[in-house]
Order: sequence, then structure tokens, then C-alpha cells
Amino acid sequence: MNTLNVVDTAKELLKFDTSTNKEQTCAKWIVDYLEDIGAEAELQIVAPDRANAIGKLGVGKGQGIVLSGHIDTVVTGDVNLWKISHPFEPIIKEGNLYGRGACDMKGPCATMLDAAKQLAKENYKKQLTLVFTSGEDSGGWFVRNVISEKKVTPEEAKYGIIPEPSMMDIVRCHKGAGGARIMIHGKAAHSSRPEMGINAIQKAADFLYELRNLQKELNKYPHPLMGPSTVECTIIQGGLKGNIIPDSCTLSMNNRLITGHEGPEVTKKWMEDIIKKLSDKDPTFKATIVSANGGSPLDIPENNEIVQILMKILNREPIGVTYFTEALDYTRVGIPTVICGPGSIDQAHTADEYISLEQLELGVKTFKETIKQVCL
Ligand SMILES: [Zn+2]
Repeated sequence: MNTLNVVDTAKELLKFDTSTNKEQTCAKWIVDYLEDIGAEAELQIVAPDRANAIGKLGVGKGQGIVLSGHIDTVVTGDVNLWKISHPFEPIIKEGNLYGRGACDMKGPCATMLDAAKQLAKENYKKQLTLVFTSGEDSGGWFVRNVISEKKVTPEEAKYGIIPEPSMMDIVRCHKGAGGARIMIHGKAAHSSRPEMGINAIQKAADFLYELRNLQKELNKYPHPLMGPSTVECTIIQGGLKGNIIPDSCTLSMNNRLITGHEGPEVTKKWMEDIIKKLSDKDPTFKATIVSANGGSPLDIPENNEIVQILMKILNREPIGVTYFTEALDYTRVGIPTVICGPGSIDQAHTADEYISLEQLELGVKTFKETIKQVCL
């Protein structure tokens, strides 16, 4: 068996540039690692140069747990902004490990591997599954291939953990994502004769004002851990030329949704209500809903066994976050999954990304204890 400790393992993972849609060599390295510790391992090729790695201990022993992390990273950005380390030449300085993906999430992936290695020779009563995915930050979202090709099923895993950097906080909920596109209709005219036309951009301003009112209403009903649903117009497109009253304007909304607001119907109703309100008081207001969608939030009940196990091990209360993870993909198919991993999201996607060695140790310790309680 290899002699790498968790820090060495993290360093090896960090040396692979997985920021540019090429994760296969890194995934292969993980498959070799998993085979070396005696796990059943598979390289799942999902696209040219892109692959997931899957490892299992105690295969067929019944519903255990899945730990799942992504091995791709965001791009490095301007390398000159990296003052402490080169993005792919990891170094340790003052108790921190630096490199692109140190906290998001090759460091956390190393803790999964190290915990499994330390327990590889044990007698498993339930199956342990480790998944390393591609395309989470870089595009592709290949965790879907893991799930659709049944590389992990609810028969193998009763629940799961995504060790995204949460400073080992237990994240049992995050919002779902949704949005809408609204086309506001006006009437073109020469800009010197605005009274002859209907200015679609001005009408869009009326719509945005009502969107702020909708937000004030949503703020009254926050989820205890996630806060309120939010509706934000993030793209506005309208107008043709400086001297033409614009005849159309499109608004794109990006919404973040709490429990009770999932599904496209709720978003659609919000948009319909605003359009109705405006057209009732202004007969020249005309708008069409081009699209409306809404994804489910993650909302794992506090009494779920994995939440309870982690609460006892870490001695802390679960929280909610605003960012989005692969936990939803597992939860949707019947594997309730929480987020709990070493390192801070504050260092994710930054120049001189790092993770503290202390967090890496805490990650290993926590996952070892979790695996012991669930699988041994
Ligand atoms: Zn991540």
C-alpha cells in the first residue's frame, strides 16, 4: 500500500491541471490509488480526456455511505497574481497547503482517500463508496453520469456526504436555482416623438420596480437556515438605436429558491402576477413570459441519520448555505446527501488558494469516524 499521508495525497492531486476540461489523468491516478488500497475501482470515461473515478470497499455488503467530491477546478486566472505558489506546484507555508483546488476541492478529496486507506483492511458490514467527479466547476456536471449509469444506487448508499469546503460545518440545506425570461413589448417610434411609441425599456423599469416589491414580500417568509427566496434580474437587453423608441426589452431573472418555491410553477405565477398588476393599471403594458424554471432546494431533515451522526462527531448544529452543490443530484435519486468538508469556501476560486493542514486532519478524522459508525 502507498505511503502517502493526506498532505502528500493532496499535493499529488494538485499537480494535475484539471482546470481546462482534462480530468482523466487525475481520475486515473485516483483509480490506481484505490486499487492499491484494495478497493474495487472504476474509471468512468464521460468525454474525451474527461473521467470520473469510483471506488468501493465492502462491495455488496448493503446500504452504507457515499462520499463524493469533484476533481476539476476553476481556471487559475492571472498566474502573476499567485504570489505564494504556482497554481500546479503545491507548497506548504505556515501550516497551509497552497495550489489551485487546495480547498475546492482536491484537499477534501485527499481526506476521503486517506480515511478510506486507513480503514481499507477493516471488515466492512456496509458498503463504502467514494466518487470523484469531473466538470463540477469547469462545466459538464458529470456527477449526472455517475447517477444515470447507476455507479452508485440507493441500495449501496443510504446517504451521502459531499466534502465541499464548509470548515466542517454540517450543511443540510441550500437553495435551488431557477429563473425566468420576460419579453416586454413596446412600439417603435422616432425618439423625437416618444408619444407616438411605447418605450419597452421604461416599461421594463416598471416591471423591475414590482420585482423589488416581490422581494420585499419574499423577505417576510425566510427559511430558518436558508433565508428567503431571491429574485434578481441579472440581464437586461433592449433598444436598437439611439434615436428609436425601443419596441422590446428582455429581462432575465436568476432566482434562488427555498423549500415551497421549487418547480417552475411558482416562478411562473410570480411573473404572471406582476404582469397582471402592471397591465391592470396601465393598458399599454404588455409582456410575455418566454420561460420560467425552478429547481429544488436541498433540504435534508435534521433528524436524518447522517445529520445526526455528524452532529455527534463534530458537536455542532447544522447550517444552510447559499451556494449550489452536487448533493442535490444524489438526494433526488433517494440518497439524502449533506455537505461537510474541510477548508473554507472563502479561499475557493481565489489566487493563492489554500487549505490549512489542521482542516485536512479534521476532515480525515471526521470521515474515518463516520465510516466506522456507518460501515464497520
Ligand atoms: Zn467545489
